[in-house]
Amino acid sequence: MKLKACVIGYPISHSLSPVIHNYWLKKYGIDGEYTAVEVKPEELESFILSLGKNGYKGCNITLPHKEKAWQVVSKFNKSPDDEFYTLPNHVAHFMQAINTIVIDQNNHFVATNTDFIGFARNLLESQPNYDYANSIAFIIGAGGAAKAIAFALASMNVQQIVITNRTIEKAFEVKDMMVKNFNFPDDKFSVIDWKDRSNILVNCNLIVNATSLGMKNQPELDIDLSDLPDNSLVTDIVYNPLETEFLKQAKKYGAITVDGLGMLIHQAAPGFEAWFGKKPEIDEELRQTVLNHLKNR
Ligand code: NAP
Repeated sequence: MKLKACVIGYPISHSLSPVIHNYWLKKYGIDGEYTAVEVKPEELESFILSLGKNGYKGCNITLPHKEKAWQVVSKFNKSPDDEFYTLPNHVAHFMQAINTIVIDQNNHFVATNTDFIGFARNLLESQPNYDYANSIAFIIGAGGAAKAIAFALASMNVQQIVITNRTIEKAFEVKDMMVKNFNFPDDKFSVIDWKDRSNILVNCNLIVNATSLGMKNQPELDIDLSDLPDNSLVTDIVYNPLETEFLKQAKKYGAITVDGLGMLIHQAAPGFEAWFGKKPEIDEELRQTVLNHLKNR
């Protein structure tokens, strides 16, 4: 029987996940199918609960469903005998948002969030020799992606993590989540005002744009990177355009830069392996395939 998986969101036409998964399905000659399915918020629960019945091995979840999808599956974590039992997963539990569901051989849900894996692997693969343990990270933004990035950087054992966000309360929420849920030390994190985002750079050397600013059809991230220390590492999770104005400016001031496309591709890999039984390679041809799709938008 054909192996089936999908990505669900609302809207969903923008999703690049089908491009990535179908590239791998073709490359490895797997008799599988990966589609994009538009699921309205009010249909989310019934769609998730029917995944197995409809022949899906699982799905990816994108905006705006990541939190609600976790609420749906986490209801079923009481007894393995329950029809919809969900295996415990501490990342999903503490992040309270998921982007991947796998239906395992016992018909149980395995739900997790692979954005943190995508972010960490993209950095570690692009810059394997960077001294992460001695770096001071600065995360600009405090949305869903920033939570995964804070967890990734703390797990990579960076020395300090400074967070800023236009809506400052959300920056404190990220810090609280890391300290209260994940048990990282309180003094590993600090929050600064949005207006101080350029002044802090003199003290930081691993800078992440985790906002949607700089994305095609969005305003630019207004920041002055001239105070960046030498050999800083700067990364943007926006990948359209691939080289954002933020990354261009960082390059101008001598930083090492890493674009956001690798994060997108790496976060897809664990789901592919679980649904289709093959650990996929991330090669240059796949990056080019995704970039060609972006160009045509
Ligand atoms: P989100 O939860 O909606 O968060 C959006 C973030 O951008 C918030 O911090 C928000 O600040 C900030 N922002 C938006 N407009 C702003 C403005 N005009 N001025 C200042 N700040 C602004 O979205 P998300 O899921 O975290 O995603 C953020 C971006 O990352 C999106 O562009 C998404 O496509 C991209 N992304 C990329 C990957 C990847 O694999 N490369 C993965 C996930 C997400 P407020 O809280 O003040 O609104």
